[in-house]
Amino acid sequence: MCYAVPGRIVARDETAGVVDYCGEERRVRIYGEEAQVGDYVYVQGGVIVNTLPEAEAIEALETWKEMLKTLRGIDRQTVLRMLPPGTKASRPELRRGRQGDGLTHDEIRNLLAEEDPADIEALYGEANQLRHRLHGNACCVHGIIEFSNVCHRKCRYCGIRGPASISRYRMSPDEIVATASHAARELGFKALVLQSGEDYSYDRLVLAEIVRRVRQLNVLVFLSIGMRSKQTYETLFEAGARAALLRFETSNESLFARHRPGTTLEERLALIRHLKGMGYVLATGFLVGLPGETVDDIALNIAMTRSLQPDMYSFGPFLPVMHTPLRGSPTIDAQTVLKTIAATRLACPESNILVTTALETLDPSAREQALLAGANSMMINVTPKHFRPLYSIYENRACVDVEPKDAVERTVTDLKRLGRAPTDVGATEVRNQTSSLDMLGSQ
Ligand code: SAH
Repeated sequence: MCYAVPGRIVARDETAGVVDYCGEERRVRIYGEEAQVGDYVYVQGGVIVNTLPEAEAIEALETWKEMLKTLRGIDRQTVLRMLPPGTKASRPELRRGRQGDGLTHDEIRNLLAEEDPADIEALYGEANQLRHRLHGNACCVHGIIEFSNVCHRKCRYCGIRGPASISRYRMSPDEIVATASHAARELGFKALVLQSGEDYSYDRLVLAEIVRRVRQLNVLVFLSIGMRSKQTYETLFEAGARAALLRFETSNESLFARHRPGTTLEERLALIRHLKGMGYVLATGFLVGLPGETVDDIALNIAMTRSLQPDMYSFGPFLPVMHTPLRGSPTIDAQTVLKTIAATRLACPESNILVTTALETLDPSAREQALLAGANSMMINVTPKHFRPLYSIYENRACVDVEPKDAVERTVTDLKRLGRAPTDVGATEVRNQTSSLDMLGSQ
């Protein structure tokens, strides 16, 4: 089973292209690849990961074609069912959100503060229909390999913070590549996130070699390795990494300073902007519910994420951890995170929004709810079983005992039930009726 649908390049220039997926066109980035108009390609996060022989693509598409049609129908029905009766949203914020023009800070704040159950349902319904309108039924399913839980930072919220006395592990480069190879070849992943604490024992060159070898598996290499030097990220880009996840965690400077001693928000933002400038597909976002945070902060966090113009939005609830200074802090409710997802969809209509494991940990049914409240992307943990419990950024992580193969099957079943296709969602769908070449010319 493959987690990407092959598409065909119908237009390209030096930096961008258009790929057709059974009648739906999406933009992709071009980094000087060999892929030409007419070639069949796999795309992840808006990046071509490999070309494939026409016969192979046509065979894959035969399987997908009917299924895509059926799934699109189910998705459409689900969207219609969720919309407020008479398609009349009562709140002005929802009416404005529906138009897809984005929202102001006050409008975002009002949506987050909403407590009326009917209006919250209406918010989810509007967010879901906007996701459907702008992204179709595509849903990214990335694999994540947590390759080291060693970290020299002292972030007060994090269970793998340097001072914590927990069992530490580091996967060797060979183990990382073998895990990636299994995920790509046996499980069909086309994008793999390599995540770790800030562990400098993997230096720039060691990481570059890992990236090069993982890239050879024809996957999008997605880094999540924290505050490493610009030079490191540049070397890793040259080695073939094309995506990076780095959350700014909170836009509130004093909360940031309190919870991330030894670092500043400005430094972190500068690196995030640099990653974008270097050409990385950027994923960023924040923790929802850090102690001391207000609804205004969450609205500002959404606005800050939007200002960084990421390709993917990632935010999950803060979950208090026993062996950290924040043990005993209140846990936020799943509804606040769902409202954050939905408000983000309305505020930043084109965004790709991840459902995080932290949200699933908070409430096992929240993954599905998040997908129905505007989210369109997720990750499956493919870290070897014996390391998974040790990557304890928070406790009782969802799915920690589930075999990746079973997690994949479960995810595909869940997605199909909702009418979603586990295909690429990184690029913006071409919505107007101009031809593909016109669109390239107008960038
Ligand atoms: N060290 C890397 C990535 C690993 S941690 C980095 O700094 O980017 C990945 C994410 O886990 C962090 O960005 C943080 O937002 C989240 N995280 C850490 N502790 C958490 C907790 N207690 N609850 C929920 N999420 C947490």
